[in-house]
Amino acid sequence: MRQAFAALFIALVFALAACVLAARRSYRPIGKAVALLSFALIPPVIGNLLLVLSGNQTIALIGCYTYFIGMDFVMVALLRFTFEYCNMQWKSPQLRLAVYAVLTLDVVQLLLNPFTGHAFDTEAVVLEGLNYYRLVPHIGQTFHRVVDYGIFFTILLIFFIKIIRSPRIYMERYSVILFSMIVTGAWQTYYIFSRTPIDRSMAGYGVFGLLIFYFSLYYRPMTLLDRMLAKMASDNSEALYFFDAEGRCIWANGHGIELVDIKGQKFDQAADLLNGKFGFREYTDKEWTHDQILGSGEEAKYYHFDKKSITDEKNRFTGSFLSIRDCTAEQLALAREMYAARHDDLTDLYTKAYLYECIEKELQKHPDRQYLVIYLDVMDFKIVNDVFSTAYGDTALIRLSDWIRKNLSKESVYGRLGGDTFGIFIPKKNFDKEKIEKELSHFSVKEGNVDYSLMIHLGVYEVGEKDKEVSVMFDRAHLALTTIQSEYQVHVAFYDEKTRKDVLWSNRLSAQLNDALKNRELQPYYQPIVDVNGKVVGAEALVRWIHPTEGFLSPAVFIPVFEKNGAIVEVDRYMWRSACEMIREWGDRFGDIFVSVNISPKDFYFMDVSYELQNLVKEYGIDPSRLRIEITETVMMTDLEKRMKILSDLRQAGFIVEMDDFGSGFSSLSLLKDMPVDVLKIDMKFLNKASDDHKAKTILQNIINMSEDLGIFSLTEGVETNVQHNMLAEMGCRLFQGFYFARPMPREAFERFLDEGDKLIVTE
Ligand code: C2E
Ligand code: CA
Ligand code: CA
Repeated sequence: MRQAFAALFIALVFALAACVLAARRSYRPIGKAVALLSFALIPPVIGNLLLVLSGNQTIALIGCYTYFIGMDFVMVALLRFTFEYCNMQWKSPQLRLAVYAVLTLDVVQLLLNPFTGHAFDTEAVVLEGLNYYRLVPHIGQTFHRVVDYGIFFTILLIFFIKIIRSPRIYMERYSVILFSMIVTGAWQTYYIFSRTPIDRSMAGYGVFGLLIFYFSLYYRPMTLLDRMLAKMASDNSEALYFFDAEGRCIWANGHGIELVDIKGQKFDQAADLLNGKFGFREYTDKEWTHDQILGSGEEAKYYHFDKKSITDEKNRFTGSFLSIRDCTAEQLALAREMYAARHDDLTDLYTKAYLYECIEKELQKHPDRQYLVIYLDVMDFKIVNDVFSTAYGDTALIRLSDWIRKNLSKESVYGRLGGDTFGIFIPKKNFDKEKIEKELSHFSVKEGNVDYSLMIHLGVYEVGEKDKEVSVMFDRAHLALTTIQSEYQVHVAFYDEKTRKDVLWSNRLSAQLNDALKNRELQPYYQPIVDVNGKVVGAEALVRWIHPTEGFLSPAVFIPVFEKNGAIVEVDRYMWRSACEMIREWGDRFGDIFVSVNISPKDFYFMDVSYELQNLVKEYGIDPSRLRIEITETVMMTDLEKRMKILSDLRQAGFIVEMDDFGSGFSSLSLLKDMPVDVLKIDMKFLNKASDDHKAKTILQNIINMSEDLGIFSLTEGVETNVQHNMLAEMGCRLFQGFYFARPMPREAFERFLDEGDKLIVTE
């Protein structure tokens, strides 16, 4: 009996020591408290071990002291553990101090016992033929019991209250400790009062220590976790199905039940129902994902499947779960977003980026086909916007895109490159140049009371090297287009070697301009302007480039190049200055003849035209009325009011303003009546276009009459024959300019011409 208990106590000491070591290593805050408690339980067990083994009184007494003082430590440790385990704080530091003071007092009075004998004694009883020293309690021992029981019952009470107040799930956690404390306490009490020789309740203390160790450090409230997971699963927006190892569905959340319509919680039907709805899948041990669309068009539903397996610690398959997400809304939003990113808002055609992407794909798909890349541009679209309205402009673009959609073959791809430009990628065999040219060169857009024909130009690049970047292909198509940008007769231009050379050539010209101005390679030529009597009254200054390598260059060749890059400003400044110089030099030598200079529409963008001209005449000290200003209608197409103001300023300053090339573009007589101009310069060239001679005459007569009525002089240029001259004179035209009188000529020739002029001109 003794040996058995001794062995049990020794085993307990080892077990508790192991708990101390393990608990100390725990990362959880309660680890320290558990370690202390396990440690504090060792001395009472050792004390009892000594009592059990003791054959003499001294050892028995040592056993008793170890036991009692040890119990005081157990109380300290138990208090600390309780506070930690129940997540509590001392009500006040004073209370804590008082409790510890009482415990200390107990230790002191127990230590005094060998001298005073007031606490307890031992008496020998014979047990299994050996002396066993049993405790004889006195008053001090009673104090000890009151203290320890007091604390012990308080702790029981704390746990009891905790159980009552905590949610059910946590009750287990507290009740296990409370229950083991009650058992141990009762057992101990039974021993104390029954005075049985060997304190068996010590075994209870040991077990109590082990229970605490387990519940504080290793126990997880599984019911709590279960509930949390179940809650998450039920609330999940996905449909969830849990399968056991045999692939039988054991549970599904609300969405899962709804999705396949599981009736009456019969979850084992789920696999069949799922197979019925989505087609056969396996619900056993494999992990897989799958995307599926049910239905089509607007009704289409998108589902994402995700199947996961669960294995135990030995990696044996224990079950699986399937989640099905209805991603229809996401897919639709994504599709909408994709669509918006790929389609132009206004025309609903592809955007540039997406068009390029599609073209790349087409090229990869059909590497053997021959394709054309077309750059389509509306001429003077800015003017359309300004003159009519942006709303009309938008309508025009929409009509144009509708035309493209309707008339281009299925195999072509097209989109809006930006503004008024469109890109088309079309198999060469499907490109009907005649049709496109016919329908697009004058593309009528009728909207409200506006009926205007857009003039559309196409630059075409035949795809040669398929691995060229699409942007380069469009650059080339655009280059081709620039070669006909100011043309009214040609609407389609193909990129070829010549285009490339032309572009290189224009770039070279631009680079040479500064030097050319310095070296006086640019020269003014003068074309006489005569009155109705054939008397030279002025001249138009027209620029020529006597190029060192290219020879004589017509302005028709280089002016458009410089208009495009803005260098025209330099040319015009130079020409105006030359004209002023000329006027000053001539003085009255040939009477008060005037010089007309040309003003490019671009000049208005790059400089203050009125300011520059006024400064020039001041600088040269000449009469502004001798420097005539030729502007074209295009100048008035943008910023109409601002430009009118500039012209009015110029007229106020004494300049004479001429409307050049009347009849070429937008020619509107109604616009003319508000226009601050003095002279209308009608170009015969444009009239010759009118096939019907009679019609041309009528138009001309009307223009002349109308301008006269408005107090505007008419000047006809491009007069090539005597017949024309006579007819115009008869119609009431005041001034004339044309090859019939003289071609533009250099300064010296013009001066000679002036000297002998009158003789040269035939008038009737
Ligand atoms: P424009 O202002 O309409 O000039 C009249 C053009 O008609 C000149 O061409 C002239 O040589 C040509 N011409 C004159 N009489 C006749 C005729 O009887 N029959 C025919 N077929 N043509 C005739 P040019 O000199 O080649 O100039 C072409 C254009 O270049 C000019 O047209 C003008 O727009 C521009 N230009 C010329 N010099 C300048 C300049 O200094 N500055 C600016 N901005 N443009 C200029
Ligand atoms: Ca002119
Ligand atoms: Ca002209």
